[in-house]
Amino acid sequence: MSNMLKGIGASDGVAVAKAYMLIEPDLSFTKQTVEDSEGEVNRLKAALAKATEEITAIRDKAATTLGEEEAQVFDAHLMVLADPEMVSAVESNINDNKVNAESALKEVTDMFIMMFESMEDNPYMQERAADIKDVTKRVISHLLNVKLPNPSMIDEEVIVIAHDLTPSDTAQLDRRFVKAFVTNIGGRTSHSAIMARSLEIPAVVGTMSITDSVVEGQLLAVNGITGEVIVEPTEEEQATVNKAGADYAALKAEWDKLKDAKTVTADGKHFELAANIGTPKDLEGVNNNGGEAVGLYRTEFLYMDSPELPSEDAQFEAYKAVLEGMNGKPVVVRTMDIGGDKELPYLPLPHEMNPFLGYRALRISLVEDDMFRTQLRALLRASVYGQLRIMFPMVATLKEFRAAKAMLEEEKAKLIADGVVIADDIQVGIMIEIPAAAVIADKFAKEVDFFSVGTNDLIQYTMAADRMNERVSYLYQPYNPSILRLIKHVIDSAHAEGKWAGMCGEMAGDQTAVPLLVGLGLDEFSMSATSILKTRSLMKRLDSTKMAELANKAINDCDTAEEVVALVEEYTK
Ligand code: PEP
Ligand code: MG
Repeated sequence: MSNMLKGIGASDGVAVAKAYMLIEPDLSFTKQTVEDSEGEVNRLKAALAKATEEITAIRDKAATTLGEEEAQVFDAHLMVLADPEMVSAVESNINDNKVNAESALKEVTDMFIMMFESMEDNPYMQERAADIKDVTKRVISHLLNVKLPNPSMIDEEVIVIAHDLTPSDTAQLDRRFVKAFVTNIGGRTSHSAIMARSLEIPAVVGTMSITDSVVEGQLLAVNGITGEVIVEPTEEEQATVNKAGADYAALKAEWDKLKDAKTVTADGKHFELAANIGTPKDLEGVNNNGGEAVGLYRTEFLYMDSPELPSEDAQFEAYKAVLEGMNGKPVVVRTMDIGGDKELPYLPLPHEMNPFLGYRALRISLVEDDMFRTQLRALLRASVYGQLRIMFPMVATLKEFRAAKAMLEEEKAKLIADGVVIADDIQVGIMIEIPAAAVIADKFAKEVDFFSVGTNDLIQYTMAADRMNERVSYLYQPYNPSILRLIKHVIDSAHAEGKWAGMCGEMAGDQTAVPLLVGLGLDEFSMSATSILKTRSLMKRLDSTKMAELANKAINDCDTAEEVVALVEEYTK
């Protein structure tokens, strides 16, 4: 038997391929005295040349696969390498102090990094500091003859193995070659897992120890549906995994037939199936999967993909592209939600003990109000190109909502005064992802146009179980009666005021949750585009009256999540 690891299946599909270790290698060294300083300067020059060659190759690859704009970050790295001031400071350090090239380089670059990082209010300098850090690492790797992983240069079929993947690491993965990824940490609602689903890359997260169990080049079989990873699978094991892949492909082919069908239950009730997107490029997936709307556009990716704060015009173009691409169908645009597991290199956030409970999303927007108003103006200007709905994330109090809405109204008034045409039917809503807002949803419902329940966060805050922490993932329970009661209260509160309630957390596409949510009368379900057709297929088999009975029983009679799951199984047999 081969070695098998069990993690959390985070993105459906299977793969059998070689491991590619995306792991930070050991770059430690000691400071040494060297007599031959000329030899040391030559080592430095050789390492600088190799680093330049390597970064140029990465830059060219990025320009062809991702576009010129994405490649620009590497131009900045090349500029650091060619900076005469820095290079001559390192050479003098070697010559004057007779130290080895590694420590001479590190001492000089540390000084520059400290200087730039201390200019806290200058995002440009903060970014330069980040560039110097990256470049130093690369040059040291050449001095030590240690290979740094370059995920963007992968050009054969592999399974990427990492301790964790950030959303920007995930965005760099080329799905032609990366057949799956497996990580030590993370849960189904980590942003890397969410992105894997929209990129349709099979993924297993939260294995705890994959990086210790696998070495570069070893053959792996990954099943993103069950969360199983087999190291050096036998022929028979490979055949089993491939069979699971074929069965999944056959199911998908069935679902694909529903692409142009209406979403209705067996008794003819319509529910809106919308998609979550991160960039305008994701629209292709939305349309290929029969999305009826965009229920969540996570605009922070626009900020994360850009080397600096995106200008009002750049944002306007992106919002316009999405609105036009949806041809008049509704588009819910969420204002920036940075923080938690999403960072901006040019907006350094203070290091916090609990970033998911800290300075994030609307909390930042209400403080950095120039940045927020720029986004609001871009949205308002784009509103005439489709059916725009604006949504604020991480709202805890009515006061926050009122403050954000007031800024929106102010920007609207200014634009109108300048003669800009703005749609007059823009709905303004909030995400319900903080329990405090869920509990007083009846109050919010009087002031907002809609709710969208962000269960990824709502569950972590209600259960006090970090969504990124595999150790407490057993507590991350969408079907817990406590969560269902909160959701019911949100939906009922919206309906009492004649408003609509949607859900854009991953629970909306969860096949066990869907029958319950149909029963609770959720109006809109927004999910990874790749989950839409299987949900449409499931809904076709459900009777809404029977599901209402199911939801009622789950909420009133069940004590545990396990009992709820058993009840759903009984009702959907
Ligand atoms: C959520 O919290 O459910 C949500 C959709 O937002 P995000 O996953 O981006 O935090
Ligand atoms: Mg959230």
